[in-house]
Amino acid sequence: MTFVYAFEEGNRHMKKLIGGKGANLAEMTNIGLPVPEGFTISTEACLDYYNNGETLSDQVKQETFAALKALEKKTGKELGGKEDPLFVSIRSGAVASMPGMMDTVLNLGMNDETVEAMASLTDNPRFSYDSYRRFIQMFSDVVLGVETYFFERELEKYREKKGYTSDPEMTAADWQELIQTYKQLVDTHTGRPFPIDPHEQLLLSVEAVFDSWNNDRAAIYRKLHQIPHDLGTAVNIQSMVFGNMGDDSGTGVAFTRNPSTGEALLYGEYLVNAQGEDVVAGIRTPQPISTMKDVMPEVFEEFQAVCNRLEAHYEDMQDIEFTVERGKLYVLQTRNGKRTSQASVQIAVDMVEEGVLTKEQAVDRVDPEQLHQLLHRRIDDGYDRQPLVKGLPASPGAATGRIVFDADEADRRHKDGERVILIRPETTPDDIHGIIAAEAVVTSRGGMTSHAAVVARGMGKACICGCEGMKINLQDKTIQIQERKLGHLDLITIDGSTGEVFEGDVPMVEPELSGEFQLLLNWADDVRRLGVRANADNPADAAKAVEFGAEGIGLCRTEHMFMEQERVPVVRSMILSETASERDEALRQLLPMQQEDFEGIFKAMAGRPVTIRLLDPPLHEFLPDLEELLIETTKLEVTGENLELLQQKQRLLRKLRELHEFNPMLGHRGCRLGMTNPEIYDMQAEAVFRAAAALEQNGMNVEPEIMIPLVGHVNELRDMRRVVEEAAARVTDDTGVRFTYTIGTMIEVPRAALTADHIAAEADFFSFGTNDLTQTTFGYSRDDAEGKFLQRYVDNGTLDTNPFVTLDRDGVGRLVQEGVTLGRQAKPDLKTGICGEHGGEPASIAFCEEQGLDYVSCSPFRVPVARLAAAQAAI
Ligand code: ADP
Ligand code: MG
Ligand code: MG
Repeated sequence: MTFVYAFEEGNRHMKKLIGGKGANLAEMTNIGLPVPEGFTISTEACLDYYNNGETLSDQVKQETFAALKALEKKTGKELGGKEDPLFVSIRSGAVASMPGMMDTVLNLGMNDETVEAMASLTDNPRFSYDSYRRFIQMFSDVVLGVETYFFERELEKYREKKGYTSDPEMTAADWQELIQTYKQLVDTHTGRPFPIDPHEQLLLSVEAVFDSWNNDRAAIYRKLHQIPHDLGTAVNIQSMVFGNMGDDSGTGVAFTRNPSTGEALLYGEYLVNAQGEDVVAGIRTPQPISTMKDVMPEVFEEFQAVCNRLEAHYEDMQDIEFTVERGKLYVLQTRNGKRTSQASVQIAVDMVEEGVLTKEQAVDRVDPEQLHQLLHRRIDDGYDRQPLVKGLPASPGAATGRIVFDADEADRRHKDGERVILIRPETTPDDIHGIIAAEAVVTSRGGMTSHAAVVARGMGKACICGCEGMKINLQDKTIQIQERKLGHLDLITIDGSTGEVFEGDVPMVEPELSGEFQLLLNWADDVRRLGVRANADNPADAAKAVEFGAEGIGLCRTEHMFMEQERVPVVRSMILSETASERDEALRQLLPMQQEDFEGIFKAMAGRPVTIRLLDPPLHEFLPDLEELLIETTKLEVTGENLELLQQKQRLLRKLRELHEFNPMLGHRGCRLGMTNPEIYDMQAEAVFRAAAALEQNGMNVEPEIMIPLVGHVNELRDMRRVVEEAAARVTDDTGVRFTYTIGTMIEVPRAALTADHIAAEADFFSFGTNDLTQTTFGYSRDDAEGKFLQRYVDNGTLDTNPFVTLDRDGVGRLVQEGVTLGRQAKPDLKTGICGEHGGEPASIAFCEEQGLDYVSCSPFRVPVARLAAAQAAI
């Protein structure tokens, strides 16, 4: 096995072995771009390191030093050399890009001797000492665990002593003096002198990169992005080029297109006379890339050519890091650029128009989850915008929340259900959990490519950066904007698309979809086989679903109609009725209400199929809370005042106790209700058919599909089918209108799936209710599981994913497969769909495609996601 590869030996397809960064450095090297020379220690070496009890094996060391020798030969420089020393960067590079998650060491090879060699070679001692102190600081932070903060404090003290206000005022002698202080600092903190042997520095750094694979930040990031923990990271060792050599040098990052809007224009920032992460660190505010044209016209031109070349080569928008050393351009990294959902759609559509991508490729490019973000809210156009302050529009979207200044607090309050906006001078990877928890992020420093901006865009979270008009005081937890002062937990609204910050709450509007978005979804519709329906139980949701492209309703829950304010008393009297005639009376009152509901929904769906599920939850869900009622009754008993009310309450209490169940989820619900109280299903079916008849009479085609919930035995379905058929016949007799309808069932208990062949005999369609099917297959009660143990299961890897989010292929999926197979054996034209929340989740949709289901059904806002995911599943 080989553990180390020179850049010349790799290519873009070797990500798994040499990491994303290494693979792209290799690719760029091989297509002739100006990349500083180097080599990559593979991810296998990282795994080897962990297998060896976190030590580098002899083979890895040997190969590393052999590669170093070769690098020295190629560059004509020597690591630790006293004549022409080689300096290298140590760069981590995981398989999937993990921005800011792993640490980089620059200028490695610096020590008291090489710094002098560098100073005399370049004739620039200031630069040389500046590089050395940077190295001590970075190396100490990343490798020795001495935090940057301590060094910054020393630097600040030194500047104060000298009366300087900024770093450029520091002279060579100043840096030299500070270097002594830095070394002393390391000695004090670690109890050992700073390592001066460059080979030792190198091995320690490689180990530190491997160690950082398992640091908390990296682990959280992997979890968030579902990256497996056992991939390991590669290490890139690359000869240094210096952007801090003077005003003909610099460093920058750029996207080949605007990552926020998708506009096909170079977009990015650079800093003159700066090194490495100065641009993203937010310490100095960088310049827009377009101004580089004036400062270094030739370099800019070359850079633009490199950008075009890379974009054409990768057939995707690139995120490029570069450095200019004394007027010579070097490319240090390229990768497919992260982008907002809006940009993602725009770029995919543009690239089809440019002839770079086919429509199918464009459809395949856009992440369906990301698309979901486009459906988010924004500030009402009619709102009279009076922003308190404006920063950089770093990530679009609007959000309202309470001000917090600390990531831990953001996290804690979010868990308590509060909406917060995280405000920081700048963010670091240590704030990641706070960014996840916050509705939005605002920073006072840093540009569009600062940490906060990159991370927020990746998450589709609104973000404002470089909001310099906002003075943050972390001590007394306030922000000062001119005269206005806001404090901890004050409510603000931000617009990440404009960079504006507003006080308090602001009216928002629902999103509408751009032309590009529609175009892309239309292409997706051409590709997909699966139908896409929505779960909707009122006309407004139904209309929204149609607007988003739903082809029907896959699940209309009728109980929500029962829960409407003015109906509750009628529903209660139905449940509480002591005699059949009392109950009939209540049902008679409910009938026209339900009929009106269905008419509204049928109208909104304009002839598209609508699956209506008859009453499903246990009846006590419609009654007041037992404990509260008990307290009220006791009070009335004690005061003895209102005897009539007391009797009423007592009656309710008796009924509640009667209806009480130990385990309502497995209790008297679904078709079991229909079996004991067929009059309820009869009323509901009649309401559906009367609505259908009324619309048919007005010339509208309606296709109701009546769905019987929770069937576990074919006999249940057989009986309920009869109830529904009788209601249909009655309505036809009564109105003289003929209408077509079908009757099917939800498959949501294991027995139904296992006996699907029997059940299919009585069913025109199956709809897999995978929420309940997941509960009944795992034997989990969702309400109890998610808070108590399921999160732990996912965290510690007992389960790969939450089965209520992503369909469990091995268990629940097996039942779905069995259900489809058996059902179709018995009835070849059986229609099959899925209506659990999984119906809007891309991985689960892919499973539905594999099983050959006819459609998925999901919430209206996820319909576009499902259309795209269904297309991708078919490609
Ligand atoms: P990250 O993954 O955090 O972006 P990188 O490994 O890309 O870390 O390094 C961060 C920055 O350090 C680069 O963008 C570049 O500016 C600088 N850098 C890395 N290697 C070199 C090098 N060989 N020469 C000059 N600068 C470098
Ligand atoms: Mg980094
Ligand atoms: Mg980088």
